[in-house]
Amino acid sequence: MEKRSRIASVGAALEEFLAMPAPSLGIDIDGCVDEAPIFFKILARVWPGKVFVVSFRSDRAKAESDLQHWGICYDELILVSKLSEKAAVIEREGISVYFDDQPECLQDVDSMRNVMLVRNGGNFDFDDRKWMFSDQTGKRV
Ligand SMILES: [Mg+2]
Repeated sequence: MEKRSRIASVGAALEEFLAMPAPSLGIDIDGCVDEAPIFFKILARVWPGKVFVVSFRSDRAKAESDLQHWGICYDELILVSKLSEKAAVIEREGISVYFDDQPECLQDVDSMRNVMLVRNGGNFDFDDRKWMFSDQTGKRV
């Protein structure tokens, strides 16, 4: 490919990339942000799109205070009253990448979105070095 043609091709690809809407990020608080606050502080600050915090908490003021304590920047804090509501929130808000520690919150998220399972003592047995799933969330392979 000729150099000019190559540059034009790269330019067109870059234009296409910049025209795409910035992906939205979603993060859980408990068992997630509190497991790796520095990672999520950095990730939320550099993320190019909107940042949603989706939490199964009822105390908004405490959630806001905790997020401020860890230095988490976000656009919107959404509290749900059931774990199963998170998948609907993720779809409704167009969240592209979502971090949570509970498979129950991730299993109904559609396949077009990326989900990241954060490891902690509630979902991983560090003595046995094995993931822990229930019959509803795991399948033995
Ligand atoms: Mg959690």
